[in-house]
Amino acid sequence: MKNSSPDTRTIAAPRDYAIPFNKPCFAGNEQAYIADAMATGHVSGDGSFTKKCNSLIESLLGVKKVMLTTSCTHALEMSAILLDIQPGDEVIIPSFTFVSTANAFVLRGAKPIFIDIRPDTLNLDETKLRQLITKRTKAVVPVHYGGVGCAMDSIEAICSEHNIAIVEDNAHGLLGKYQGRFLGTFGALATQSFHETKNFHCGEGGALLINDPKLVERAEIIREKGTDRSRFFRGQVDKYSWVDIGSSYLPSEILAAFLYAQLEKHEYIQNARKVIYDRYSKQLAEWAASTGVTLPVVPRECETAYHNFCLLLPSLEKRQALISHLKSNGILAVYHYLPLHSSTMGARFGSDPTSCPVTEDISDRLLRLPFFNDLTEREQNKVIECIKDFK
Ligand SMILES: *Cc1c(COP(=O)(O)O)cnc(C)c1O
Repeated sequence: MKNSSPDTRTIAAPRDYAIPFNKPCFAGNEQAYIADAMATGHVSGDGSFTKKCNSLIESLLGVKKVMLTTSCTHALEMSAILLDIQPGDEVIIPSFTFVSTANAFVLRGAKPIFIDIRPDTLNLDETKLRQLITKRTKAVVPVHYGGVGCAMDSIEAICSEHNIAIVEDNAHGLLGKYQGRFLGTFGALATQSFHETKNFHCGEGGALLINDPKLVERAEIIREKGTDRSRFFRGQVDKYSWVDIGSSYLPSEILAAFLYAQLEKHEYIQNARKVIYDRYSKQLAEWAASTGVTLPVVPRECETAYHNFCLLLPSLEKRQALISHLKSNGILAVYHYLPLHSSTMGARFGSDPTSCPVTEDISDRLLRLPFFNDLTEREQNKVIECIKDFK
């Protein structure tokens, strides 16, 4: 039963439910901008829409350099190459995350060292970080779960003491803040996802945020199949040639045009999500208190990016029963993540299956409620009423 519906990618189509878990929402100008991109005659990567997306994120966050990529997974893969991750290196990753956070480093031969999470924010437990560091530790990859920042002050202090790079998996956290500073601006590198389940999307897409200026030039090369094509386009070299390892990590202008239509409406989209989040919080508070359910926790030093809204049920049985109750009312609620440390792949790295008890517990009890920009008040009230019927 536990493995029946772990992820939105493997479950029934949204149309099977009166109220789906996620619906890809459109901000308005997607088609017009795609038509513009077609009219310019430049539809491969790095045209004007890609540049507009990059500079918008750079200026909003104050990031040195942003490069759109074909996915967050690919931005993480680029990070692993940029940090020169070698076979035998260790990378510390929360067990409670999407597989790509680990896979990107494993592809370079790294051994993932799984860290447990805090029971409140579901972010990596910074008090367990120091004890996992060895001479082989090359990077730590904090995931800002749900768009709520990890304890970056402690994480930064520990990492700088040991000269370990930070790569923020910020798939959930664009425009969230920690101690007044944007998520994605703490690590040498940070990654974004523009998959259709994220706050802003273009179906499939991502971005690499580069805060360490020393990594910019090589990132351009890795993203362009290991060639110095970017220097060629800037007129810095006569011919472009093969200078490093790399791959094809550029999205086409069609995707960038779609994405720009979403990013330019960032205030509207984030506000719509805040309204949904606040309504769930307020309307479910009393029910949660009386049924032993925990609502999301946002510490004082954090401003959430409103990526999702999760309940923590008192037990696995209660979680599964609430899923069924909602399903029978035409509402789809889902859970994630299956712990990585105790997965088939995790075991191959010799991870101790008992090393992340909080992750195991949370994975059994977490439930994600329908949450998307266009969720109407009426639909949301139906979800809320249905939940309140559940004892
Ligand atoms: C969605 C997600 C990813 C992967 O993003 P893609 O753009 O689909 O590659 C990675 N990490 C986390 C935490 C995610 O939520």
